[in-house]
Amino acid sequence: MVDAVVVGAGPNGLAAAIELARNGRSVHLIEGSERIGGGTRTSELTLPGFRHDVCSAVHPLALGSPFLRTLPLGDYGLELALPPVQAAHPLDDGTAVILQRSLAETAEGLGVDARAYRALVGGFAREWDRLAEFVLAPQTRPPHAPLLAARFGALGALPADLCARTVFRTPQARALLGGIAAHAMRPLSAPGTTAFALVLLALGHACGWPVARGGSEQIAMAMGAYLQSLGATIEVGRPIATLEELPASRAVLLDVTPRQLLAIAGDALPARYRSALARYRYGPGVFKVDYALSGPVPWTAPAVRAAGTVHIAGRLREIVASERAVARGQTVPRPYVLAAQQSLVDPTRAPAGSHTLWAYCHVPNGSSVDMTQAIERQIERFAPGFGELVLARATRGPAELQAENPNYVGGDINGGLASLWQVFARPALRVNPYATPDPRLLLCSSSTPPGGGVHGMCGFHAARAALHGALR
Ligand SMILES: Cc1cc2nc3c(=O)[nH]c(=O)nc-3n(C[C@H](O)[C@H](O)[C@H](O)COP(=O)(O)OP(=O)(O)OC[C@H]3O[C@@H](n4cnc5c(N)ncnc54)[C@H](O)[C@@H]3O)c2cc1C
Repeated sequence: MVDAVVVGAGPNGLAAAIELARNGRSVHLIEGSERIGGGTRTSELTLPGFRHDVCSAVHPLALGSPFLRTLPLGDYGLELALPPVQAAHPLDDGTAVILQRSLAETAEGLGVDARAYRALVGGFAREWDRLAEFVLAPQTRPPHAPLLAARFGALGALPADLCARTVFRTPQARALLGGIAAHAMRPLSAPGTTAFALVLLALGHACGWPVARGGSEQIAMAMGAYLQSLGATIEVGRPIATLEELPASRAVLLDVTPRQLLAIAGDALPARYRSALARYRYGPGVFKVDYALSGPVPWTAPAVRAAGTVHIAGRLREIVASERAVARGQTVPRPYVLAAQQSLVDPTRAPAGSHTLWAYCHVPNGSSVDMTQAIERQIERFAPGFGELVLARATRGPAELQAENPNYVGGDINGGLASLWQVFARPALRVNPYATPDPRLLLCSSSTPPGGGVHGMCGFHAARAALHGALR
């Protein structure tokens, strides 16, 4: 009998397994698909020699993760590469607003909003390490830095639309904040959306927004190799349908969302907890396009040509309209598009002289609308001539994403809606959100705090809960 079985080898399953193994517990990790990685995978989706990130691409949360930072992943081949410009947001006048490593230079680029930007973001960027202990943990725990947490809570609770309009005067600064807040996949009028912008802006200055050299799967490969060096075993190609299929263990940690937990654990859970899980809400889906290109994207604004991440959405009001429509179950002709240009800093992604582009827009959960043309119109708008560079494209809507990874329910890439309620009560309102009423069974996926993203913190906290509970 092993101490723990972990089901699912996404970044959180891997993180949970590592934390248990490095605390001396025997661990067996079981992954349903043929490869470990979950949301951190890389494949030749278009043409031979073009390596695309199937899911996650940009990794500020990995670089700034209090847990991942403690792992010797560099020794196992992981190299996170920073682009010259962390993120860019092109505008219709041919200019772009940019997020740089330097807080001062970013602020300077915002003209009359420079001082307001420094006041809003500076403190959180300087204090990232202390802020991370609070924002990348269950929000129900008392914070170590209560003043910082209170300031973050007060500002972060604001709807991003309101924050952008109140704090900033220029369309540039408003667009920058709105474009980053839209990572929340929530209408920008929703309370709490400013928190997403503040975290990602602070990370931009404290750590940067890197891509993984060789592809995002290098994160999973390095974590998997380190895990095995600790004596744990990994089994792939074994999707788990019921708890009875699992080898005997003292604890089971599941890197799955509530819907699968209900299917897998079923009647083993009390009715009250089951109905709480059944009420869990999933967020919008994404529609993704990966491109093989004959050259770099011809962005009109030169700064965008050096950016790892591009927010393609025009002014704040357009982002607000796009995210509001998605929340109402509609698609828009001009969606907010998130793009990444990994090959700019990582030559392993494409044959010499060629490039890749990774792009997606938000769509209603489960949507079957093909957004390829809408995405390409948005890119052409700020990079005329883009279409002529396209050698091949690969598209994935919610149904394909979920078919590849059952955690992406209806195309929701964050393991559940990031509503204010589900930030606090994820997956259900409980003192210990990782624990279930069965003391042997824990949840360790992004459906637990702190939610979506490649940071491993859900897995880390779940493992700590197991070490204090079933595996004490
Ligand atoms: C298109 C896209 C873009 C993204 N972009 C970014 C980004 O740029 N930066 C970022 O930080 N995050 C990004 N994310 C989000 C990030 O990938 C996820 O938040 C993260 O992977 C969640 O990790 P996890 O371990 O909780 O779940 P997952 O990574 O989803 O892993 C779950 C694993 O469990 C396995 N599994 C599920 N059910 C079973 C079962 N019954 N039996 C066995 N195995 C099972 C799955 O196969 C999978 O391998 C993106 C996601 C997508 C899809």
